[in-house]
Formats: sequence, C-alpha cells, structure tokens
Amino acid sequence: MSDPVIITTAITGSQPRKKNNPAVPVEPQEQIESTHEAFEAGSSLVHIHVRDENEDPSSDPDLFARVQEGVLKHCPGMIIQFSTGGRGRDQNERGSMLHLKPDMASLSTGSVNFKTMIYENTPDLVLGLAEAMKKHGVKPEIEVFDAAMLYNAVNMSKEGLIEGPLHVQFVTGIPNAMPSHRPLLEFLVAELKRMMPEATWSAMGVARTQLIVNEWCIEMDGHIRTGLEDNVRYDKDRLAKSNAELVARVARMVEDAGKKVATPAEARALLKLAA
Ligand code: MG
Repeated sequence: MSDPVIITTAITGSQPRKKNNPAVPVEPQEQIESTHEAFEAGSSLVHIHVRDENEDPSSDPDLFARVQEGVLKHCPGMIIQFSTGGRGRDQNERGSMLHLKPDMASLSTGSVNFKTMIYENTPDLVLGLAEAMKKHGVKPEIEVFDAAMLYNAVNMSKEGLIEGPLHVQFVTGIPNAMPSHRPLLEFLVAELKRMMPEATWSAMGVARTQLIVNEWCIEMDGHIRTGLEDNVRYDKDRLAKSNAELVARVARMVEDAGKKVATPAEARALLKLAA
C-alpha cells in the first residue's frame, strides 16, 4: 500500500477576503477554530498567513504566535507551517516570525510573474530565509511556482543550505505562472524524484483547478493541499462553507482511492519532523 496522504489546509492566504467568502478566517481566534475543524476532518498540516485588522496581509509575529498557541493547544500533533510569502508584505519582515520555531515555513526559491505583479524572491532574500529557517530548526516547504525554482532548491539542498530531504509544493493555476497541466506536473515530479528520490511532494491548483489537482495528487502518490487560500468555492454553484468542508471532500477522495489519510504522527514521520 502506498504511503498515507498528508492533507494540508491553507486556511487563509493573502488574498481572499470576507467579502469573497465570509468563511475565510482572518482573525486569530477564527483561524484557530477553522484549523481545528480542518484537523478534525483529516488535515494534519496547516499553512498559515496572518492578517491585520483591515484583513490585509501581515508579518506580525504576535499574530503568528497567537495562532500557533491555539493550534498547539487544540490540534495535538498537527504540523504548523507559517507562510513567508510575499504578497502585501514588507520584504524585510517576511521571516520575522521564524524565531517562533514553527515546524515548517514556506520558501519560494525564485521569482515569477503573477497576473499584475512580480512575485519577487531575490537570491539574497531566498538565502536569508533559508538561513533563518536552518538556524531555528524550521523545515522549509519549497514552493515551486516555476520550473527553475525546483532546480534551485535541489542545488541549495546539495550545498547544505537546506537540511534533510526536500518537501516540495508545486503551485499551479496562477495566471502568468505554471498552468494546472498534468503532463507538466508529471515532468516536475519525475525530475524531483530523479534528483532526490527521498523527497516528498504535494501540488495545488488555484480556484477552479483545485479539485482536479487534488485528484492528480492522489493518482500520482503525492500529498494534497486544499483550503480557502487557494479556492473559496466548493463547486461552480456555491461557496465553500469552511476549510473543513474542503478537507472532508478530499479525505473521502483519498479513501475512495483505497488510500489512507495521514494522521499527524504519520505526517511527521513522512516529512522527517520531530514527533
Ligand atoms: Mg500561502
């Protein structure tokens, strides 16, 4: 039987707002409750962005600390991952919460165009974030928005700038970046496995591609990411009621495929994280 499947929930993100879907959790207490429901539905890893009082993206370590404390308390064993993503945040502050030592943090290993902006990750910034993660014992999740980022991450790993086997998230479906195109994902996964057989991976599709990419991940023996960050809808007819509703659906898909949803302990073992 294949490995248990880790379901990541990207609960908030930097973009969706209450006006897009009132279920998007933006205040720490809401984020903790939404994470708890997702945990109960089968998610073992939470990807966290925080928002200020105007719902704008923030890097405030106090906000991250509050969400972390609540998740530690209510979701035993769940893997906590902070976003260091750039949208709407000061470049110099993107790693300012790593001293809180979450289990993981996202790390984009290059730059890419989005619809109306450059998602800028200069070599210095990437190295600085990687260094801070290493110093604080935080495992990076490599966010691959374009092919070069995969090769950069493998090189950084070979140079010892990133420790342990890579965990890669292939990000697809963002306009101007990589499309949600299965042959492309198959190629990238094959390249990752060729260069680093012990690496783990997941993929995500934005908006209407979320569900189909979830299906591909199950079929290709990857892990899964869902959540309101990537898609505020349940289907074309209605909004998702919660992060948990999206998690519950992919958990059913995993089980229907004859696979097992990873418990937090199994997810930690797969990602080589401390129990
Ligand atoms: Mg994110």
